[in-house]
Amino acid sequence: TPLIRKTEPIPVALYGGRNAVTMLPGGGIGPELMGYVKEVFKYAGAPVDFEVVEIDEKSEDNDDLDYAITSIKRNGVAIKGNIETKSESANVTSRNVAIRNELDLYVNVLNCKSYPGVPARQSNIDVVIIRQNTEGEYAMLEHESVDGVVESMKVVTKSNSDRVARFAFEYAKKNGRKKITTIHKANIMKLSDGLFLETSKKIAKEYPEIEHNDMIIDNCCMQLVSNPHQFDVMIMTNLYGSIVSNVVCGVIGGAGLLSGKNYGDHYAIFEPGTRNTGTAIAGKNIANPIAMLNASVDMLRHLGHSQHAELIQRAINRTVSEDHIHTPDLGGSAKSTDVVSRIIDHIMQDTRHW
Ligand code: ATP
Repeated sequence: TPLIRKTEPIPVALYGGRNAVTMLPGGGIGPELMGYVKEVFKYAGAPVDFEVVEIDEKSEDNDDLDYAITSIKRNGVAIKGNIETKSESANVTSRNVAIRNELDLYVNVLNCKSYPGVPARQSNIDVVIIRQNTEGEYAMLEHESVDGVVESMKVVTKSNSDRVARFAFEYAKKNGRKKITTIHKANIMKLSDGLFLETSKKIAKEYPEIEHNDMIIDNCCMQLVSNPHQFDVMIMTNLYGSIVSNVVCGVIGGAGLLSGKNYGDHYAIFEPGTRNTGTAIAGKNIANPIAMLNASVDMLRHLGHSQHAELIQRAINRTVSEDHIHTPDLGGSAKSTDVVSRIIDHIMQDTRHW
């Protein structure tokens, strides 16, 4: 019998005002970035205890994965690096996808806001990408029907399209956003993307105060590069979300800045926005620590530790936008540790009189 029972949430553990949070360092630069998060939390006095779960990338069984999922169910919240799947076997699928599916984290939110002082292709961008996070092209239903013919299923359901659209309109309402654009390819994928688009149009009618329009994914990619300020909140299916997130991160300043949030009804996972592993730059002290630190700030906010979140956020913003301590991905020459130690300096200055 399987260790994990899908439908039953495990009660969230709380230890005297502190939160236990699952930390999945993942591969590549994940472990070093998590080290920076722990260091910054120590100086900020953030009331969080990490339960670190390593997942063996080469393993063919799912014991580590089951343990990670149990831990997240117990804690309710996780911070995560990207987990690589190194097994060659077609039966071993992405652990990242498995975790999101098992926890039913049906929506991914990426706040794409420009950093003043960071060299970028476009400035003053403030777009929110809301992405269906568990189905679409990530259904992992692929098979070779006859020799040389592979079929891959894209699954779109009314219930998930409904949940994502509703999440987006509620998000817009709560955060004072004015417009939502549904991104799709319903001219070609008439049934699947058609359902996603029609569902968002239907939900939009319940929110007359928020403008709603739609755009084909290919045009959307062009507009994001040439005229991104027309966008406010965008909703889309899983694969488009992955691509569009990377386009916007590229336009704003690369993979090292933005964080992404994964939500379901019971659990939340925080991670760098582009979900890169960064294998080639691991261990060189050049990875940009900002994306993972922003993920840790998102996590603190989610847990209700807004004072600690603000403290760290302020220190990050000063380091990046005022002191211009930039790693090579932003055109600078600072080491990862230079960035982290400047952030800690700011934190110590702000907490001197506490
Ligand atoms: P791989 O599995 O080979 O690592 P990937 O698909 O995860 O591939 P990456 O190559 O990891 O993608 O990342 C894409 C690009 O973004 C790379 O050039 C990588 O160096 C860069 N990158 C990702 N994260 C960071 C970061 N935190 N700081 C600086 N550069 C980063």
